[in-house]
Amino acid sequence: MSQIKILPEILSNKIAAGEVVERPCSVVKELVENSLDAGSTRIIIEIANGGLSLMRVSDNGIGMNHDDALLSLERYATSKIYKDRDLFSINTLGFRGEALPSIASVSKFSLITKDEISEVGTEVFVEGGTIKKVAEIGAPMGTMITARHLFFNTPARRKFLKTVKTEIGHIVETVANIALGWPDVQFKLYHNGKTVKNWYSSPDPFNRVLDVVGNDMRNDLLRIKFEDKFVSGEGWISSRRISRKTSRGIYIYINGRVVRDRGIQHALFEGYAGRLIKGQFPVAVLFIKVPYDQVDVNVHPSKHEVRLAQQKQVHKALIEAVSETLSIADRPKWSAENFSRQKSFFVSEPVARYSKAIKDIPDFSATQKSLWEEKRFSDLRVVGQFHNTYILCESDEELVLIDQHAAHERVLFEHLKKLSMNSKIEVQKLLMPEAIDIGHREAHMLETLIPDLKKLGLEIEPFGGTTFVVKSVPAILADREIKPIILEIAEKMLESGLTQGLEKTIDQCLMLIACHGAIRANQRLLDKQITALLAQLDECENPSHCPHGRPTWISRTLESIEKSFKRIV
Ligand code: ADP
Ligand code: MG
Repeated sequence: MSQIKILPEILSNKIAAGEVVERPCSVVKELVENSLDAGSTRIIIEIANGGLSLMRVSDNGIGMNHDDALLSLERYATSKIYKDRDLFSINTLGFRGEALPSIASVSKFSLITKDEISEVGTEVFVEGGTIKKVAEIGAPMGTMITARHLFFNTPARRKFLKTVKTEIGHIVETVANIALGWPDVQFKLYHNGKTVKNWYSSPDPFNRVLDVVGNDMRNDLLRIKFEDKFVSGEGWISSRRISRKTSRGIYIYINGRVVRDRGIQHALFEGYAGRLIKGQFPVAVLFIKVPYDQVDVNVHPSKHEVRLAQQKQVHKALIEAVSETLSIADRPKWSAENFSRQKSFFVSEPVARYSKAIKDIPDFSATQKSLWEEKRFSDLRVVGQFHNTYILCESDEELVLIDQHAAHERVLFEHLKKLSMNSKIEVQKLLMPEAIDIGHREAHMLETLIPDLKKLGLEIEPFGGTTFVVKSVPAILADREIKPIILEIAEKMLESGLTQGLEKTIDQCLMLIACHGAIRANQRLLDKQITALLAQLDECENPSHCPHGRPTWISRTLESIEKSFKRIV
């Protein structure tokens, strides 16, 4: 006799619920996404007891007629895809037809809905997956779905629910995440009868962004936009002044869907490379659009993960856009006075060059860039040195403090990097080769690094066991103690591993060489050293951060200083 049976529908819905309905916030997510798919402009979410006793989502979307209301509760019933081709080009948030039957199988469920054509609305009650009552009811166009006593019939799962506080926390986060992607829809969230949050609809998506990430970020978010053959995107990313300790301030949407995509997050971090120190995270809201047939959203039942056909190109476009946006924003902005000065200088040059520059560059900010770019730091007036560590400068409107060590580190790093690419690092042969003895693991690492270090001007030879002899060093390290530098290089490489690729390994070695070669804090500088440093900073590609990602300068406007002195309010 056959042992295999087809599961009854109620049971298979319960099993599907195990994937779709993990906890109350997953119910909220599915219901709100359905409301969005139904074209709603106002969605009201009412929760009681963290969702454990009640979750209700009401919308003003297209609603359903009597037959569709009943059909919507059947497994695999969906109005969103019809043909198998549709599955590879999905433009709605839902498509699997699993959410409603799953939720209804593990709760006491009711659905009230009316579409535009029906004279009356339909009400359906379901308990643990069994339809208990279907009735006519007076209702406005739209849909209201209520799920009470989640997991009442699956006690094992109910036990896994956390406290009311935790569950409502997840719900608020879920709704905030969705709301961020739909700024022209109003969302209202209530908990135990009290308003938790009202996200008003707004024609300007930036208002919704501030609503979610916090209004105090207003001046610290940079607009980002990009577009190429495979992908377009826009959003906001945090400026150099802001960083977070976790990645929770990062919101990524692909075609309007909230996703947790490690690859895209990683690309975002790559774009910030050299601008954040280890353990710091940016804040970002990114709306990425790819053609619907280039993204597979059917990877996971909760649809949080997606697969991109052109993953590499999408990452590349994002990395470039982020790094470009940051480097434009990082340009020191104190050069207003120089603008007029340099402009007159340019006007007095051969006129042709000036007018060409103007013609090529359509807007004012780009014009500023071409005229100012050359001299920024060296146009500052040097006031002096503070604490033998910071260079104090002024422009007309700003007080600027430069961290002399961080700035010099940046200068040396970029300088060495350029030279190393052409194998032109200046080398100093040691008169007396220096022997150093290091630990076992470090020695092993150092041995593998020998050929690369040689290209950077550090010539080292094994001398048996864990001993090495240093024969030459990069000229900038000529008067430095060499052993700590070599030890640090070996340790750093052990820590990060060599799998990161040659370029990163070389960069890390250069960073260490730059760090050891740079002027220190607590070091008195001569005026001409300061002038030279400022001029060298102007030559840098990224003068605003040291190679580890720390800022090289900070500034305070005259206005903010006057405010502090209560000269102005
Ligand atoms: P899916 O969203 O994957 O299609 P669901 O189980 O979430 O599956 O919903 C089943 C169907 O019920 C949807 O395809 C849609 O036609 C209908 N539906 C669900 N919620 C709503 C709503 N709020 N407004 C209008 N129709 C809805
Ligand atoms: Mg759905």
